[in-house]
Amino acid sequence: MDWNRSNAIGLAKASCTLCGGMGMRPIRKTKEAPCNCVFRAVLRACYSRFRDCVNAGSYASTISLEFCRGRDGRRTYSRKREEYMADFCLVSKRLLDGPDYDVFRFHFLLGADWRLCCRQLKLERGNFFHAVYRIEQVLGRAFAELEPYALYPLAEYFRGEIQRETRGFSAGLPLSA
Ligand SMILES: [Zn+2]
Repeated sequence: MDWNRSNAIGLAKASCTLCGGMGMRPIRKTKEAPCNCVFRAVLRACYSRFRDCVNAGSYASTISLEFCRGRDGRRTYSRKREEYMADFCLVSKRLLDGPDYDVFRFHFLLGADWRLCCRQLKLERGNFFHAVYRIEQVLGRAFAELEPYALYPLAEYFRGEIQRETRGFSAGLPLSA
């Protein structure tokens, strides 16, 4: 994701005191970076899709045909929903350290509310919510900036390679670019 004012403002929290709802904030005199409220919005969107995928798990997943980027233009079949759930869990496990990963596992993956998490993990309420904020920021940024296939924007992830190839083609770029 290449961040700019127009894609950040759509995700920003209107009442954010850091960016004033603009989504970008200055980091140096001449540079801007997305605000944490933008990353948190990314995580919430990804998490909501993750839960949808889990809930849809009892039904057979649709298989999508994807075009590979390779020189021979091979095609592969994939189960997008399962791939997404695996990516969501693996990236989170890789990026979060011990205590934050515990909060992530209990709260996000197992659905425990703050009371249960605080009791199980022996955390103060304030520390629990600070951890949730930290997790949302770290994962939101990672899900949007992951290379080569970011989880966010979700529409792009679930469209897969077909869309990427089509876009390259319509922009007059060679398919193998
Ligand atoms: Zn903000």
